Amino acid sequence: TPDLAARIAISAGAAEPPAVVYALDGINLSVARGEVLGVVGESGCGKSTLGRIVAGILPPTDGEIRWKGEAHHKLKGRARKAADLAAQMIFQNPMAALNPRMRIESIVAEAPRAHGLIEGSVSDYVDEHLRMAGFDPAMKKRLPHEFSGGQRQRVNIARALAVKPEFLVCDESVAALDVSIQAQIINLFVKLREELDLTYMFISHDLGVVEHISDRVVIMYLGRIVEEAPVEEIFARPNHPYTQALLAEIPRIEPRKRRFEAIKGEIPSPLFPPKGCHFHPRCPFAHARCRVEVPKLKPVAGGHLSACHLNDEPAARA
Ligand code: SF4
Ligand code: MG
Repeated sequence: TPDLAARIAISAGAAEPPAVVYALDGINLSVARGEVLGVVGESGCGKSTLGRIVAGILPPTDGEIRWKGEAHHKLKGRARKAADLAAQMIFQNPMAALNPRMRIESIVAEAPRAHGLIEGSVSDYVDEHLRMAGFDPAMKKRLPHEFSGGQRQRVNIARALAVKPEFLVCDESVAALDVSIQAQIINLFVKLREELDLTYMFISHDLGVVEHISDRVVIMYLGRIVEEAPVEEIFARPNHPYTQALLAEIPRIEPRKRRFEAIKGEIPSPLFPPKGCHFHPRCPFAHARCRVEVPKLKPVAGGHLSACHLNDEPAARA
């Protein structure tokens, strides 16, 4: 059996204030230790809820997260604290995550100090973690607003690294940054993975953003996983019509080389998803069966799963 970091089985999502229910429907996932799992979908697909549940910020209303084989909600005391520290979340807006009145050094030192993780000098500990994130420790006496979005995200990453995590859940962590800065931060995540043996769940609305960093990609649509495959396989042989539409939207792929049509129509409300295949109102291949029967996630090749009725009816795709 592979060395699992997390095993995720959730059949109902979580309610977030103000009373919007983000439904997750039969999510079943494993993340291997050291793996980068990309999670892609439009807003409202439940990917942020999934990330928060995995990071232990929200409890699932039904189902469980197994952390290295142990059910997370059953862990108590030190074991629970260790599991909570081991999975850290990196959000989209670093300014919102950083206390504007705290100096960079205090921001980085706060959690490891509270958890008794610093043995020697606090100053050295802070410097070491800022350096890991590519932030110059000489600037640690300054306040967050004195820095650009990219630099703030580095502080945010240093702060997460300072509690010695094993698993980073990155939710749209580069979405607010300029494209050139996005690449720098993604490269930082790649470097940290190698240096620190980290496991990632890398959540984005943009398939192009997860391409470079992910080993495996999960595509979500309205609370369900519709396709799951190694990253090269997703790009070379996308199976699900929704994945094909997402690929057509990556700007760097020249329009005349695009094999698929871009997506049409608005994403329906996650509160009232369409019956049968959730994607049917927007799918160019939708037929009678799609409106009534939920397609199951089934293997289409080794390690490649897709939830589309066309896989049982090859003639229908032509
Ligand atoms: Fe389209 Fe039907 Fe496949 Fe859903 S099951 S993606 S509606 S063809
Ligand atoms: Mg989101």
